[in-house]
Amino acid sequence: QGGEPAAAPATADANPWPRVDWPLAGDPALEQRISELMATMTVEEKVGQLVQGDIASLTPEDVRKYRLGSILAGGNSDPGGRYDASPAEWLALADAFHEASMDTSQGGKAIPVLFGIDAVHGQSNIVGATLFPHNIGLGATRNPELLRRIGEITALETRVTGMEWAFAPTVAVPQDDRWGRTYEGYSESPEIVARYASAMVEGLQGKVGTPAFLDGRHVIASVKHFVGDGGTADGKDQGDTRISEADLARIHGAGYPPAIAAGAQTVMASFNSVNGEKMHGNAPYLTDVLKGRMRFGGFVVGDWNGHGQVKGCTNSDCPATITAGLDMAMASDSWKGFYETALAAAKSGAISQERLDDAVRRILRVKFRLGLFEAGKPSSREIGGDFALLGSPEHRAVARQAVRESLVLLKNAGGVLPLAPGQRILVAGDGAHDVGKQAGGWTLNWQGTGTVRKDFPNADSIYEGIARQASAAGGEALLSEDGTYTDKPDVAVVVFGEDPYAEFQGDLQTLLYKPGDDTDLALIKRLKADGIPVVAVFLSGRPLWVNREINAADAFVAAWLPGSEGEGVADVLLRKADGSVQYDFSGKLSFSWPRTATQYVNNTGQEGYDPLFAFGFGLGYADDGELPALPEDPGPVGDAGARGVYFARGEAASGMALRLEGTGGQSVTVTQVPEALDGDLVRVTGVDHMAQEDARRLAWSGAGEAVVALQSHVSLDVQRESNGDVMLLTTLRVDAPPRGEAWLSVGCGPGCTG
Ligand code: BGC
Repeated sequence: QGGEPAAAPATADANPWPRVDWPLAGDPALEQRISELMATMTVEEKVGQLVQGDIASLTPEDVRKYRLGSILAGGNSDPGGRYDASPAEWLALADAFHEASMDTSQGGKAIPVLFGIDAVHGQSNIVGATLFPHNIGLGATRNPELLRRIGEITALETRVTGMEWAFAPTVAVPQDDRWGRTYEGYSESPEIVARYASAMVEGLQGKVGTPAFLDGRHVIASVKHFVGDGGTADGKDQGDTRISEADLARIHGAGYPPAIAAGAQTVMASFNSVNGEKMHGNAPYLTDVLKGRMRFGGFVVGDWNGHGQVKGCTNSDCPATITAGLDMAMASDSWKGFYETALAAAKSGAISQERLDDAVRRILRVKFRLGLFEAGKPSSREIGGDFALLGSPEHRAVARQAVRESLVLLKNAGGVLPLAPGQRILVAGDGAHDVGKQAGGWTLNWQGTGTVRKDFPNADSIYEGIARQASAAGGEALLSEDGTYTDKPDVAVVVFGEDPYAEFQGDLQTLLYKPGDDTDLALIKRLKADGIPVVAVFLSGRPLWVNREINAADAFVAAWLPGSEGEGVADVLLRKADGSVQYDFSGKLSFSWPRTATQYVNNTGQEGYDPLFAFGFGLGYADDGELPALPEDPGPVGDAGARGVYFARGEAASGMALRLEGTGGQSVTVTQVPEALDGDLVRVTGVDHMAQEDARRLAWSGAGEAVVALQSHVSLDVQRESNGDVMLLTTLRVDAPPRGEAWLSVGCGPGCTG
């Protein structure tokens, strides 16, 4: 625990985890300063440093009393809990917490508190901040230099509002599009993620060895989530990543070596488990791989109560996580309990003195490197309170560039794009004039539903961007979300797609689309039937199965979650007044686009790789944009060996016998299919039967449009939700098909939170 770990020479060996050169040489003066401070700290103060509480669950008074090391504003926490607190309110809050941490009037040492926040696509919690495209869109730009710039701007806007820690970048390498956090990943390709990881870390923190590094205009980064977050079975958030060590390192580990080599100050542990072992309690990874093999010299922070998921732990009691190598627990709303149990463990020796001191030293190093001891309160720092920087024209210009470069053109039949000047453009669809929908999750609040959707300051909806440019080019734009009009327009732009979501709330358990929701398709078809050419602009956090919409529209643009700069879309779609093209499409898919609604795992590493649009695809205006009609059946249905969960549509078949074989060799016989099906989702009760060895009857109750009409043997993975009576059939393999007839839908019923 003395100096910083020394870089070891690279040697060829069987260990798949690369050795990394931690770029910050040991600094004897710094270590001396830390030693002197630590020599005066009580065990209470030391344990306090290991704890991060959420601002919704503690006050400055708590920080003063417990000498906590850090606070965070989790996705649903802001001053006042309204999600529209002003930047000045945020800054005042940061000041109050800082001052409490420096106040020694009631005892304790003055150790500045670190304030962390999910500035994951800009300082996206703050009204009026620049909202950059989510990472999936940035992945399509293939432009690490742009990423660096975005990191710099995010750091500036975060500092303005008083925080000095961004929980970014996410270096997940999502391997299953059903995962609700797919959009937080740059790419399914480890190579792209690795290239971006260092660029974003350098943008946020400044470049090691330059005066910019961790200066007052930069923040510390959190590379997350270590490790395997994007590889969980069936794309289930916080699930289990079943994988070989070599693949874990090669795929999911790819972002860490470059981020560490760029001097990342913190790494966030992941909620997921790897081969059954939760990461928060995982010494082989947190300690041996990350701090040992990869020489990571910053500190490891936990994820939101992630320690509580470790075997034998609760949110407020988990010394094992510290022992395993976690340095700071994101104990959020359970900070007090965590503090007390960790303190008891430190006193009893269950957390060793050596481990405690190592964790504290790592945290203090970061605080010293940031200059926090001398920085004064946030509002008195270099750019603290420079609110003009939030959503400044210069910052927005970079975000707009990012939007332009993120757009991927998938179809352009008849050369409908770019749009000629002087036209009357109908802008339709529920995404046409909705900054909230453009921005997705992690915007003002966790789910992105706290957004002032239509009038977010310093932002343009896609309609507003098109309107401005259409009139500059002698035409006009008409907003009509439902696509009705009085005078026939020359062309229509239909903007539609996913509504905001975050984390497990966005997991898709079944198909890569929403069955039964054909509103957008109907809108496109109606406009086409009226003889209006249609350009579809698709907002989504992942590739989805939209074959029917692609068929129906003349042009199709994947716009991901572009953020505050809707005008970036107009930049590429519209010609100038003189007829010249402003910007061509340059975005390339960083995720493969599925051919079917059940092609979840479609990345380039897969055997039999056969996506609709391959990784790297993206048309430009010089390309032939014609596309033959795509199959409109979401299939493959009932293909032997096909992976997926199938939705039932059509008639209810009653009295049909099913034999379902669980992966553990358990089998369950379903002998009844209800005649009358109602409600949205199928609920399956009697889940405990799945744990039995013997074949049992499984009772079904409730249903949706689903009809169980299987007559074949199927095998499936069964997962029981915490409320006990909801079963998700997350994987269904039809072994002995009647092809094309087997459709089964099982969803998450009322009360199910997954
Ligand atoms: C997420 C992290 C995030 C944290 C703090 C967690 O639920 O997994 O990515 O940084 O919350 O809001």
